Amino acid sequence: MSEIVLHPYVDHGIKRRTGDFKGGTLVCRCRTDPVKVSVSAPILHNHLCGCTKCWKPEGAVFAMVAVVPRDAVKVVDHEEKLAAIDPSAVIQRYACRECGAHMYGRIENKAHPFYGLDFIHPELFTERGWPPPEFAAFVSSVVESGVPPERMAGIRRRIKELGLEPYDCLSPPLMDAIATHLAKASGKLAAD
Ligand SMILES: [Zn+2]
Ligand SMILES: [Zn+2]
Repeated sequence: MSEIVLHPYVDHGIKRRTGDFKGGTLVCRCRTDPVKVSVSAPILHNHLCGCTKCWKPEGAVFAMVAVVPRDAVKVVDHEEKLAAIDPSAVIQRYACRECGAHMYGRIENKAHPFYGLDFIHPELFTERGWPPPEFAAFVSSVVESGVPPERMAGIRRRIKELGLEPYDCLSPPLMDAIATHLAKASGKLAAD
């Protein structure tokens, strides 16, 4: 096994997708009275994220973040324990006040390219079979969390060894989608 720790879900190799995942229940890490969030739709995509804002389990250098339609996300238990961690952020990340797990992130700005999509951490699902991460985003940002820059070559090598592509922003298709959204908003491209 590699000495390089990225995230507990991928560190032993990425498992193949095992089923046809149609949704499930996210449960926070509290032993009693956990927050539960129901997600009634398949995951649109899953990736690792190195940014400083996404929630990482203990010891992980990367977060694992999946995208689901906002309408499919509903808090079903202990909503009173949830609080937005930074009310001024573009993505409102709702975390359990007790265990700190982020249950979902939501964008309220309707002009944002990703409006309508919520961000979740699939390792909190009680069900298995969700799609594994497809790439690693914001890889250079792990330095902002205190990873020494001289470790970055090894981290990038390990990401590739796992069959993922390391990107320092989002993947090219997602960056293109953002640029397309902005070009339609400014009139450089015809709107649909
Ligand atoms: Zn909790
Ligand atoms: Zn992130």
